[in-house]
Amino acid sequence: MKIHNLGFPRIGRKRELKKATEAYWKKEITREELEKVAKNIRIENLKLQQKKKIDLIPVNDFSFYDQVLDMSMLLGIVPERFKSKISSSDPLNLDLIFNIARGIKNTSFTASSMKKWFDTNYHYIVPELDSIENFEFLSRKLFLETKEALDLGVEAKPVLLGPMTFLKISRYHEKENFAKNKYNLFPDLLNFYLKIITELVGMGVKWIQFDEPILSLDLSIEEKKLILNTYEVISKRFEELNVLVANYFGELRDNSDLFLNLPVKAIHLDLVRGERDLEGILKNISRRTILSLGVIDGRNVWKNNFKKSLEMIKKVQTKLPAENIMLAPSCSLIHSPISIKLESKINPSYLEWFSFAEEKIEELVTLKKILTNQESEEKIVAKNESIFQKKKNNPKVFNPTVAENLSKVKKENYSRQSSFQDRIVKQNEILNFPKFPTTTIGSFPQTKEIRQMRLKFKKKLIAKEEYEDFLKKEIEKAIKIQKEIGLDLYVHGEFERNDMVEYFGEKLEGFIFTEFGWVQSYGTRYVKPPIIYGSVARREPMTVAWTLYAQSISDKPIKGMLTGPVTILQWSFCRNDQDRRTTTSEIALALREEVLDLEKNGIQSIQIDEPAIREGLPLRHKDWDDYLAWSIDCFKLATAGVKDETQIHTHMCYSDFNDIIEAISNMDADVISIETSRSKMELLGAFSKFKYPNQIGPGVYDIHSPRIPSTEEMFSLLNKASKVIKRENIWVNPDCGLKTRGWDDVIPSLKNMVKAAEKIRAVS
Ligand code: GLN
Ligand code: ZN
Repeated sequence: MKIHNLGFPRIGRKRELKKATEAYWKKEITREELEKVAKNIRIENLKLQQKKKIDLIPVNDFSFYDQVLDMSMLLGIVPERFKSKISSSDPLNLDLIFNIARGIKNTSFTASSMKKWFDTNYHYIVPELDSIENFEFLSRKLFLETKEALDLGVEAKPVLLGPMTFLKISRYHEKENFAKNKYNLFPDLLNFYLKIITELVGMGVKWIQFDEPILSLDLSIEEKKLILNTYEVISKRFEELNVLVANYFGELRDNSDLFLNLPVKAIHLDLVRGERDLEGILKNISRRTILSLGVIDGRNVWKNNFKKSLEMIKKVQTKLPAENIMLAPSCSLIHSPISIKLESKINPSYLEWFSFAEEKIEELVTLKKILTNQESEEKIVAKNESIFQKKKNNPKVFNPTVAENLSKVKKENYSRQSSFQDRIVKQNEILNFPKFPTTTIGSFPQTKEIRQMRLKFKKKLIAKEEYEDFLKKEIEKAIKIQKEIGLDLYVHGEFERNDMVEYFGEKLEGFIFTEFGWVQSYGTRYVKPPIIYGSVARREPMTVAWTLYAQSISDKPIKGMLTGPVTILQWSFCRNDQDRRTTTSEIALALREEVLDLEKNGIQSIQIDEPAIREGLPLRHKDWDDYLAWSIDCFKLATAGVKDETQIHTHMCYSDFNDIIEAISNMDADVISIETSRSKMELLGAFSKFKYPNQIGPGVYDIHSPRIPSTEEMFSLLNKASKVIKRENIWVNPDCGLKTRGWDDVIPSLKNMVKAAEKIRAVS
C-alpha cells in the first residue's frame, strides 16, 4: 500500500513567496534572490514529505503564479499581444508569466483573464488559444523541478494538467461570431504531451499524475471520447510508465464508466466529495487497476475521521489487493492552510480538531501504519474518536439555543409581508428619492492611514476611544463628501472593516481565526478564511452604532451594510459535521436580528451583500436548483422580517447572471446593484427575455481601474439600460465597493455619475 500526495502549498510557511515576488516586481530584489526563495520552499516541501516517507511526492506543483499558466508556458501558448515579450534565453520565461498574469500598466498589454478553478476560491489564468501556431516549450520549469527532486533522491511524480481539462478550461476564438471548435487542436496537443512525457521518462520518471477534474463536470460525448483517446494513446506509447489519472472536486456519476475504462495504471478518486461513487467503482473495477483513495479532505481544515476512512479503505480491500491501493488527500493541498504548528493563539483544546496540509500528510502516514499493523488501530481510532466526541459535546459547537431558534422558524419568516408593488409605494413615500436615484455600494477608500490605525488598534497600541474617534472623523469626512457630490442615498463607508466576512466572523459566535492559515486565491493574493466551527449566533449588535452615528450627522438616509449569509459561508472554511444549509440558516438568523435592530433604530434602507451566491453554484447543472432554492431561502430569512416601508438592497459583483436571473429575482430584494460596466451592459440581454420585477442598479462606473469615467459614457450606459428596464426601476451606482480606490479618482468619478443621473432624468 502506497501513500502519495497530489500537491503541496507553495506559498511558504510565512508567505515567503508572496513577499519575494512582490519585492521582485518592485525591483527590490533580483531574479536570483526570488528564485532562491522559491527553491527553498520547494526543497522544504520535498524534504518534509520525504521525511514522512510519502511514497510518491508531487513535483511541478510549485508555481510562481499559477499552475494553469505554467501549463500554457510548457505548451508554448502565449496571447498574440505578448509574443514580443517571449525570451529565448530565460528557461522559465518568468517575466512573460508575470506580464500575462498582470498586464503591463497603461499599455495595450492587457492581462489575460482570470477564472475560478472549478468551485474553489483559487483563480487561474485562462489560456488563450486563439493565436496558437504550434506547440513549443516556452518554459523548462517542469523538467528543472523534476531534476531538482530526482537529485534529492525523491520518488518524484510530476503533476500535469491533463490535455482535456486544459482544453476545456481554455478560451478559443470566443469573441468571434463563428465558434471554432477548440477540440480541433486536440491531436496536435496530444502529440506535444507525448513529447513532454518522453522527456520525463528519459529523466527516469516512473509515475506521472494527470489531473482531469473535468471528470466532475457534465461532459459531452465528444469530450468523453477524447479523454479516453488521450490515455489510450499515452498508455500504448509508454507501456512502462505508471500513469495516474486524478479526478477531484466532485462525483464522477455518469463519467464513472469512462473513468474505469481508461487503460491506465492508476485512477484517483475524491472520496470526500465523491464518496457515493465508490460502490459503483468497486463493482466494476478490474483487479489490475490501482485505486488511489482520496480519503483526506484537501479543501477543508478538519482532522480526518480515521474510523470512517478505515471503513472505506477496508471495503476496497475486499476487492483489491493491498498493492493496488494507494491513499491520498482528496485533491491538491494548495487549497488548505500549511500547518497548525504555526498557530499560537488558538485555544489548544480547539487546535486538536484541525489538520492543515502538513498534518494531512501525517494522517496519511498514520493510516498506512494502521493498515500495515505498525500502529494499533484500536488505540489511534479511540483517541481520534474521543476528540470528535469532545467537540460534539462542546456547547458552542452544537448550541441548543441556536438549534431551538432555528426550529421555531416558520414558512412566513421567509417572505416579506406585501408584494414589491405595494412595498415600493410605501417606501417611495418615506424615502422620496428622485427618479434614477444615486448611491454607492458601501465602502469608501481604505487609505493607508485607516489601515494603520486598524492595525494599531488590533495590536492594542492605541486605546479603543482613540480608534473610535478616528473612525468617527472618517465617517464625518465621507458624509461631507457624499453631500458635496450630491448622492441620494449615503453609506457610512465601512472604515471599521478589514474584510467583509472577517468583520462579521469576529463579531459572531461560532467562528475561529488563524494567524497563518493563508491560502492562495490568485498570484500573490492569499486569503485567510475564517473557520466556522460551531453554531452561529449574534452576541450583540454588529453594525448599529456606526450606522446610527452616520445617520445622526446626515441630511439624507444612510444605507445599512451587511454581508449576506451565503457569502459568509462561501468565504469561510465550513464545518463538516452539519450540512451547509443549516449553517447558512444560522448565519441568516443572526443577520436577521441585526437587520431588525437597524430597522428599529430608524434605518430605512439596508443592503445585504451576496457577491458569492453565484460562485457557490454546484459543478453539475442538475444540482443547481436545489442549491439556489436553499441559498435564496437563507437570504430571505435574513431580510424578510422587515416592514414594507424598509427598503432591502442587495449587491452582486458579476454580470453573467443570465442563467440565474430568475433565482435572483426570487430573492425579492427591493433593489439590486450589479456589475455591468466592464461588460458594457452585456447582462441587459437577460432582461429582454426575463422581466426583472424589482428595482435594479446596473453598475455604470468600473471601480476596478483608477480611470475616471466621463458623464457621457455613464449616461450612455444608463440610456442603454432604460431601453430594457423601466425607468422608474433604475438606480445609478458604481459596479462595486470603492475601498481599493483613492479619493482622487472616486470624487470626480462620482460627480460625473451624479451628472449622468441628472442628465437621464432630464430626458423624458
Ligand atoms: N459592501 C461591500 C463594499 O462596498 C461590497 C463588496 C463586494 O461586493 N465584494 O466593499
Ligand atoms: Zn461587489
